Amino acid sequence: MNRDPESPHRHDDAQRFQTLFQAMNEGVALHELVFDEQGRATDYRILEVNPAYSAILGLSKEAVEGELASAIYGQTPPPYLEIFREVGLSGRGTRFESRYEPMARHFDISVFSPGPNQFATIFTDITERRDTEESLRHALGDLERERGFLKSLIRTVPDLVWLKDGEGRYLACNSEFERYFGAAEEEIVGKTDYDFVDRSQADSFREHDLKAIAHGGPSTNEEWITYASDGRHLLMETTKTPMRDARGQVIGVLGIAHDITGQRESEQALTESRNRAESANRAKSEFLATMSHEIRTPMNVVVGLGDLLLESNLDDEQRAHLHRLQQASNTLLELIDSILDLSAVEAGRASLREEPVELARIVEETVGMMGVVAENKGLRLERHVDPVHHSWVRGDERRLRQVLVNLIGNAVKFTERGRVTVTLEADRRSRPEILRLSVSDTGIGIGPDHLERIFEKFTQVDTGYARRYGGTGLGLAITRQLIERMDGRIHVESRLDHGSTFHIELPLLSAPPVAAPFPAAIPEEEPERARQPQAALRILMAEDSEDNTLLIQTYLKGTPHHLEVVGDGEAAVRRAASERFDLILMDIQMPLMDGYQATRAIREAERGGGHSPTVILALTAHALDGDARKSLEAGCDGHLTKPIKKAQLLAAIDTHTGHEAKQKPRNAGLTNTK
Ligand code: ADP
Repeated sequence: MNRDPESPHRHDDAQRFQTLFQAMNEGVALHELVFDEQGRATDYRILEVNPAYSAILGLSKEAVEGELASAIYGQTPPPYLEIFREVGLSGRGTRFESRYEPMARHFDISVFSPGPNQFATIFTDITERRDTEESLRHALGDLERERGFLKSLIRTVPDLVWLKDGEGRYLACNSEFERYFGAAEEEIVGKTDYDFVDRSQADSFREHDLKAIAHGGPSTNEEWITYASDGRHLLMETTKTPMRDARGQVIGVLGIAHDITGQRESEQALTESRNRAESANRAKSEFLATMSHEIRTPMNVVVGLGDLLLESNLDDEQRAHLHRLQQASNTLLELIDSILDLSAVEAGRASLREEPVELARIVEETVGMMGVVAENKGLRLERHVDPVHHSWVRGDERRLRQVLVNLIGNAVKFTERGRVTVTLEADRRSRPEILRLSVSDTGIGIGPDHLERIFEKFTQVDTGYARRYGGTGLGLAITRQLIERMDGRIHVESRLDHGSTFHIELPLLSAPPVAAPFPAAIPEEEPERARQPQAALRILMAEDSEDNTLLIQTYLKGTPHHLEVVGDGEAAVRRAASERFDLILMDIQMPLMDGYQATRAIREAERGGGHSPTVILALTAHALDGDARKSLEAGCDGHLTKPIKKAQLLAAIDTHTGHEAKQKPRNAGLTNTK
């Protein structure tokens, strides 16, 4: 703003300069330094400003021109005095960037001196540019940090990590990979697997790469790899993921692998030891089943002969002893049956029926039957059956009866005073709807330590009680297994001396079946009936045990029947071929040829000769459901389980030879009618 009125040129220059000054986007201000008495520049005065100055700083031309900077900017000394003084005094211009705090903006400021003690500032607001630069710097820093982080991650992960291009050439790998491969990254990069491992292995690696690319996502496989570095043969789990560029083109495959040899070995060891434990457990169950089964045969003789002895003339003392003997035998048989039953249920060998069963009816009948037992002890046995709703469940009627008898039996056994209550109600709010059956008593109760354990095998809370009341500790174990196999649950609530409640929940059938398909239960046993004069039957018995033979002979004494005995299966087949019998009693376990084989052979011979089939009753110690089925499959008409009572034998003979053709077969020991 050097105005020289002498020179027209200068006048033009000034004119042009003014125009420029007014039009500039940058803020421009002309100042002069202000000195104090000691001659020190302590302030500066604003002489002239352009419109951009006003626009940028928000200060009008009128307000600032002629004023001291300290007054306008509200600062003593005014902003940048040091720099401006230097420029005004020395005449050397400068340029700097600075953040002007009162406005929180950044400025790029050029300062030059148009004359002594004067200076002009040209400034632009660069806040946006600075911010962009700042965030760019941050982003770059972040990127750098992330890269570093990723690099150190890949370097330090215990897994093998590598990258290959689409052609299978290595692009990079980590140190773990180098270690397994026995080569440094520089030696690996640019090469393919064919440079390091044998052809078939390299082929399989390549195949997996291509599979991952085709699959379009991570693909995992397990393979045994022999490493050239030290010849180790290891099972590696490898995941390969195709890498793509921004346009989605596959640029390579990222591989990550780790050694699972140890893990696999310990898994195998675990499976083996589990298998060993399971087979030991199976062997134990088998042993128990076999033992119990073997014991049934001699028990047959003990119980049978005991029964016969009771029919003879005895004095009172002998009779009392014999009664005790029979009681003890029956307890032993009960124990054997429970063990057999449990091992069958546990091994899943006991087939459970799955048919609609009306639980309310079973409760009525069982409570009716057990009422006598309770009354004998002076207890009341009550039942509350929810009358409004049906009570059909899907299950095995005989097994459900067994469960109820066991629970009510326990309740009566462990209660001295009071009552036993059986409750049956439907819970229609739960989904699916369930039926709740509970048996509660006012007896001795069970302490908290034993609540869960009583459902385990051979567990009794108080052995003193057990001695007094008998029992095997197997009932609840069987009960739980049975209920769970019918998709139900059982639990107990009890406090010592405050009675117990056993709760069973079974899924309720959504609707009762159209017609009740099952007849009422057949009574288990009947006293020997008045016998009618009978036709004499020719009976063949195949039995290797002399004791059993003696027993059956004794049972048949006094009947008109004629009994012939052979000692093994082969002899039975021969006799049956040479002569017609009305009935064959077939022991199952026999030397040379067992009862199943003998029955099949007899049936075949009958078919071949065009004869009508002879009645064959299996005679076994097998108390399991499956054995009844097996003997029926072999061609037997029925199945008698040892120990066989005299009444059962005679009734079975009658039933099967048509002496009582109109009467229903009874199921005492005749398992084929179940
Ligand atoms: P068992 O009755 O043949 O001993 P269980 O398996 O049926 O075998 O019962 C196991 C044990 O649970 C019983 O010996 C007894 O200690 C306890 N227990 C079962 N039911 C009751 C009950 N209602 N009250 C008290 N204790 C019971």
